[in-house]
Amino acid sequence: MASRHVPNRIILTEDQVPKQWYNLRADMKELPEPLLNPGTMQPLKEEELYPVFCKELAHQELDDQTRYVDIPEEILAYYKTYRPSPLHRAYRLEEELGTPAKIYFKFEGNNTSGSHKLNSAIAQAYYAKKQGLTGLTTETGAGQWGTALAMACAHFHLPLTVYMVKGSFNQKPYRRSIIQTFGAEIIPSPSDTTNAGRAILAQSPETAGSLGCAISEAVEKAVTTEGCRYVLGSVLNQVLLHQSVIGLEAKAALELADEYPDVVIGCAGGGSNLGGLIAPFMRDKLLNRTDPRFIAVEPASCPSLTRGKYVYDFCDTAKVTPLAKMYTLGSGFIPGANHAGGLRYHGMSPILSKLYHDGLMEAVSYEQTSVFEAAAFFSAVEGIVPAPESAHAIRAAIDEALRCKGTGEAKTILFGLTGTGYFDMAAYEQYLNGSMTDIIPTDEALANYLP
Ligand SMILES: *Cc1c(COP(=O)(O)O)cnc(C)c1O
Repeated sequence: MASRHVPNRIILTEDQVPKQWYNLRADMKELPEPLLNPGTMQPLKEEELYPVFCKELAHQELDDQTRYVDIPEEILAYYKTYRPSPLHRAYRLEEELGTPAKIYFKFEGNNTSGSHKLNSAIAQAYYAKKQGLTGLTTETGAGQWGTALAMACAHFHLPLTVYMVKGSFNQKPYRRSIIQTFGAEIIPSPSDTTNAGRAILAQSPETAGSLGCAISEAVEKAVTTEGCRYVLGSVLNQVLLHQSVIGLEAKAALELADEYPDVVIGCAGGGSNLGGLIAPFMRDKLLNRTDPRFIAVEPASCPSLTRGKYVYDFCDTAKVTPLAKMYTLGSGFIPGANHAGGLRYHGMSPILSKLYHDGLMEAVSYEQTSVFEAAAFFSAVEGIVPAPESAHAIRAAIDEALRCKGTGEAKTILFGLTGTGYFDMAAYEQYLNGSMTDIIPTDEALANYLP
């Protein structure tokens, strides 16, 4: 058995937790391309975002300069109810794999919403409340973001309407109930409550919906309702800023253990947890202080980084959002109906897209059966049932640890365990009874949507 001088879980004390978020853009030598107004094809100005986002968040979205942003007192107080999140040393996993690698994971599933999304949800709800808004809209795919935002809005007594991708709405009745328990209204998307939804329904009445389509509906609802704004749980620069709390805590906790990662691994849907986890380590790399590897892990059925194009594209299906330069499969892309692993967004954070494009980050994709195999193995070994999304990072971390077994290298691996999988038991069931399949889109199929 490995000597265990590092505790199984490292939890920062109150005076060690970060009081500021870190804005990685302030240290990037080349910035991500700006958001464009699709009407004029000119970079968006802050004021142009005000109809959609609340003012402070519009400011954060475009602020490439401010390196550290104070976390407001109210948000720090809320963070205290479930943070700092623990950094685990995965001793049992190391032993089972027989690897000389040291494996750490930052666990973000210890709150009722069950994922890291609450870190940004509470911030976005706070700024909306502070501006005196009377309502928010959003979309949710698998349901974690809707749950986190419903929790955050309940805290600030803010009315919330959630457009939930219809497929998930039907597959995950309890996700729905949780969101409603927190007091939010939930509408399966596409719906007949918006022009965007009605147009999509007219084209394909049987569609199970998509994230891009739910975004279109939520944005339309926000801009056509007085005092209402839209919030998004991933992709945006502001979300990566809030999620930097994950990386800052992880770095401080590793320092307590006298460790520094050789490899940092995270799953990538829209890129928010990964962007947050890697931020302070990427800073070191950009400043030539250290040289860790960063690996984004995505599903083979929705491979934006590994098979998408780095171009300007819409963030939603109905093309109502600004244009973002990002790795994208095309705003009309919808992963196959059998895909159960989450991470189904067609694009990727412009910050991460730029880092990947510049060779500062790597990306891999995995088929879902191999992701669920890792999830089941990890559950049995570490006693945490991971969200399917998180299991992508687990898969990649295990493979990296097995490579170390081959080479004898005692690398330090850090991965993000973004959430728990208790609402994904239908997907686990499919894996366990052998009915889960892998469908990897052909180049021809992808070409139909690529911009
Ligand atoms: C939403 C979600 C993700 C993916 O979103 P990112 O913005 O890419 O981080 C990953 N894990 C869990 C548990 C999620 O809920």
